[in-house]
Amino acid sequence: MPPMFLVWHRADLRLGDHPALLKALRQGPLVGLVVLDPNNLRTTPRRRAWFLENVRALREAYRKRGGALWVLEGLPWEKVPEAARALRARGVYALKAYTPYGRHRDERVQEALPVPLHLLPAPHLIPPDLPRAYRVYTPFSRNFQGVDPPLPPPESLPPAPEEGEIPREEAGIPLPPPGEEAALERLRRFLQEGLGPYAARRDRLDGQGGSRLSPYFTLGVLSPRQAAWPALQAGGEGARKWVAELLWRDFSYHLLYHFPWLREKPLDPRLEALPWNEDEELFQAWLLGKTGVPLVDAAMRELWATGFLSNRARMCVAQFAVKYLLLPWRKAEAHFKELLLDGDTPQNLQGWQWAGGLGVDAAPYFRVFNLVEQGKRHDPQGEWLARWAPEYPSYTPLNPVVDLERARRRYLALVQGLLRG
Ligand code: FAD
Repeated sequence: MPPMFLVWHRADLRLGDHPALLKALRQGPLVGLVVLDPNNLRTTPRRRAWFLENVRALREAYRKRGGALWVLEGLPWEKVPEAARALRARGVYALKAYTPYGRHRDERVQEALPVPLHLLPAPHLIPPDLPRAYRVYTPFSRNFQGVDPPLPPPESLPPAPEEGEIPREEAGIPLPPPGEEAALERLRRFLQEGLGPYAARRDRLDGQGGSRLSPYFTLGVLSPRQAAWPALQAGGEGARKWVAELLWRDFSYHLLYHFPWLREKPLDPRLEALPWNEDEELFQAWLLGKTGVPLVDAAMRELWATGFLSNRARMCVAQFAVKYLLLPWRKAEAHFKELLLDGDTPQNLQGWQWAGGLGVDAAPYFRVFNLVEQGKRHDPQGEWLARWAPEYPSYTPLNPVVDLERARRRYLALVQGLLRG
């Protein structure tokens, strides 16, 4: 076998817009590699299944172009060197990771590899590793300087033997169609039908105003550049707003890159001293959608049933957990992530710390949603509520686990005390 290069896919399960794949292809023959890392796969069946189905789709995409994708199960710092030795690889190419685990993993792999690990910048819209650390979105977003066209996928790949099985996993919920072609098709449909009215429709509680591309972005089945480039070409208010949301994604990566302790502490550490309520029954009522608050219950049940939730509903349930119930936010954030098909550490942490008023961005702590008004405004016909929590005739709470007004005032008094002290 001639010496090869390895292209190691992590959260970039695609062939298009892949600088590392194209760079390796210019050097010589290559084999694709996915490592089924137990550190990532220790998650819910739905998330494992979504990942595995996208790995399967990537293998098909390799095969279709004549190439081969190896899929090995084990720790990356063991499996990547093993594959490199077996193939007598001259180097390994991958896209740079920005999360604490990703960086730690890559350092360990680099140490264990007998050949170089070339890490190329991933096509974010704003590189998460900007040297200056921002805590507020708007100044961060000013670093956006437009976007280059996405790189095309290779037309063909060099033949190579294939290695490793991809296990099957029962998701327990219906999954979206996996793979790059399905993602690009969904993107095309959104650009045609959803982008124009996006600014007006994005807050709908039923999530039909958004692209629903997040499960693909999370695994890198689609790159943000593949999405932003055609949107900006189309132009208009919808495109500007949508790309601003994609920049929130990069902002999330930026925050965790500079503040890796965000997993443990609020960005404003003073808020850690809130009297968190460890009542397990209350936690389960929130998690299972049995709080007596119609919006929260509908949202949590939709999440269990589908693995997806609109941004507006996510903000409401996170606020309810943190501000109204004072549930331990790390535990709530972790359980929430495990239910989401798009569950992603940087975005989920940012979302929780933003919605929970824990110091991310300029989100003022005193902004506490009125969950009855939110329901009426963003689901005016009550169709979403009727679908997911049909026992409620309206958004008015029925025997709620807390008195909403009293809980709101208690939270505000507590935070004011902490911030003054
Ligand atoms: P669209 O409205 O079509 O937006 C396009 C893309 O922009 C999204 O797919 C996503 O990648 C990005 N985006 C949109 N809004 C945000 C945002 N507020 N923050 C960061 N990126 C954004 N998103 C995740 O992908 N994974 C998560 O684990 C996650 N957890 C969240 C937790 C909370 C509490 C909150 C408030 C938000 C969270 N988000 C998360 C962000 C956002 O809710 C989802 O990305 C969005 O609802 C996905 O729907 P869509 O693809 O239709 O988005």
